[in-house]
Amino acid sequence: MRFKDIVGQRVLINQLTEVIDAGRVSHAQLMLGKMGYGTLALAMGYVQYLMCENRQHYGEGSELRADSCGECPSCKKIASLMHPDVHLYFPSISTTRVEKPCCAEYREDFVKFLLENNMYVNLNEWYAYAGAENKQGEYRAVDAMELIEEVARKSYEGREKVFILWMPENIRPQVANELLKTLEEPYEGTLIMLVGENADRMLETVRSRVQTTRVPRICDAGLPEEADGDYIVARRMKEESEDVEESKRMFVEWMRLLFKLKMAELSKWVESISRAGRERQKAFLGYVLDNMRRCFGQTAGGMAAGLKTGDERFDAMFPSMVTTRNVEQIYESVSDALVSIERNANPKVTFMHLSFQLSRYIKNR
Ligand SMILES: [Zn+2]
Repeated sequence: MRFKDIVGQRVLINQLTEVIDAGRVSHAQLMLGKMGYGTLALAMGYVQYLMCENRQHYGEGSELRADSCGECPSCKKIASLMHPDVHLYFPSISTTRVEKPCCAEYREDFVKFLLENNMYVNLNEWYAYAGAENKQGEYRAVDAMELIEEVARKSYEGREKVFILWMPENIRPQVANELLKTLEEPYEGTLIMLVGENADRMLETVRSRVQTTRVPRICDAGLPEEADGDYIVARRMKEESEDVEESKRMFVEWMRLLFKLKMAELSKWVESISRAGRERQKAFLGYVLDNMRRCFGQTAGGMAAGLKTGDERFDAMFPSMVTTRNVEQIYESVSDALVSIERNANPKVTFMHLSFQLSRYIKNR
């Protein structure tokens, strides 16, 4: 991942490349921010820049002061997630296919998942991809053992070794205890990079041993001029699938109901989404998030082609409802609803609550 391909975050990226150029890289770090802000993409960009054999520096007035080259063997291997010295760790889930889950069992799937989604991913999407129904993943003792062995081993290419631990919120105390020594003691040329969303849900013992970089909301950092409407979505939906057609219809209907706030009709709508399965509800909320991003890209970023629900009148009118004033509230309330659904919250309560929130935010645009 090159920094130029990340949505927004220019200020932070320039700070990061300066620190790397100055050789002041902490051996244990936490990149902290919602995944929708591009947190994992930034971590991958960071690693690629750190290990690039031909770092590019641009003149004054450029948006980015520097970037990885994207061409050298190291960049190419990292971009395809094939670099032997870049190790990925993540929560794994037991499924019918995998009885004793661990990173090693899922790494191939995880790599595919990240590449297909351009690093803009969240935990729910990963669980769905891995085929887990209503299950919570976690880090396993065997993952910690593997990591500790790899840290002690020589690097394959004779340069840096990097360990990316995605969503360290899911490290239990037992497993964390195994890792503390590794986090505490720097090994030469070794970087351990945690990439998480919520510091409050991480173990204090882990959090206190890493240097934290906070990833801001995209809109605070400004949108890149060159990004187009499709890129801001970053994860494109498969437009042809029936589910998406259904999502489009439901989205348009829902947003119209939120304007009118007719309780009887809104209750019916909530009733119908509540009857759908949890996976379907999560997919729908993911679609809503994508649409809100598209709308914001159009209104604030001047990007073309915001909504594509197929309802032309709606597509023309709705994007102006998502503005710099309400986009973060909208984004966070939908993300929170996704988490609630993931944690088996009552869907009726969740969608009704979200309806009231969205209705208010859209009116206060
Ligand atoms: Zn390079």
